[in-house]
Amino acid sequence: MAELRRPLIAGNWKMNGLRQDSLLRVENIVTALSKISNSTFETLICPPATMLGMISSSIKGSEIFLGAQDCHPASSGAYTGDISAEMLADIGCSHVIVGHSERRLAHSETNKIIFEKASSAIAANLIAIICVGESADQKADGQTKNVILSQLSASLPPHSTSANMIIAYEPIWAIGTGVTPNKYDVQEIHSMIRENLSGIVSSANANQTRILYGGSVKPSNAYEFLSLPDVDGALVGGASLNWEDFMAIAACCLDRE
Ligand code: PEP
Repeated sequence: MAELRRPLIAGNWKMNGLRQDSLLRVENIVTALSKISNSTFETLICPPATMLGMISSSIKGSEIFLGAQDCHPASSGAYTGDISAEMLADIGCSHVIVGHSERRLAHSETNKIIFEKASSAIAANLIAIICVGESADQKADGQTKNVILSQLSASLPPHSTSANMIIAYEPIWAIGTGVTPNKYDVQEIHSMIRENLSGIVSSANANQTRILYGGSVKPSNAYEFLSLPDVDGALVGGASLNWEDFMAIAACCLDRE
């Protein structure tokens, strides 16, 4: 893997946790990270929106990045219940996930909406983590590559670069199921994504863009994925709710040096 792409281990807590247990989890991660001299990987925590302020304070002085799980396309306005990218930046976020399959499915988010959200995130100086991935039916129909290519071409803003955008490949059938693709399939899809990116954001940017794998990553399988040449980190759901598992996954980045 190119040295330019520092692996990112991102925890997507989804709609889990209350303040007390979440704070404890963050404090354990901060302590664990302070014990390893680490210039190898980056860590990102994406808690529920209610905890962003609290966690923003608790990670001050650490190397942990803070991210949100979604944002609204507009920067402000009459959008009851929504949160803008600008607000996320204001509270201390550096990243935001857009286009997670749970939002695409449960909130009918289209590629056009993801495009608008990613554009808004980038305009607010956030790094947009744009999720792509096929469903079980699409995979069974042999549509995996087509689906991912159309998600990529329709959701990446033209001004996205390796500095303000990260791709997360998350096969929907692998999310929260304990089932994962084999490493050869993951490498093939990541390499296809990178190749395709060069037509969208230039080949220099494509070579430097981080492409994360997500879908049932846990300590026992993380090394297998993280050691693939085009896998530049992991987006971790369930296992990120246990700080020891999250750190064990991150530690696989040290082993792959
Ligand atoms: C996710 O939701 O982004 C995810 C990858 O979940 P899990 O790790 O639980 O499969």
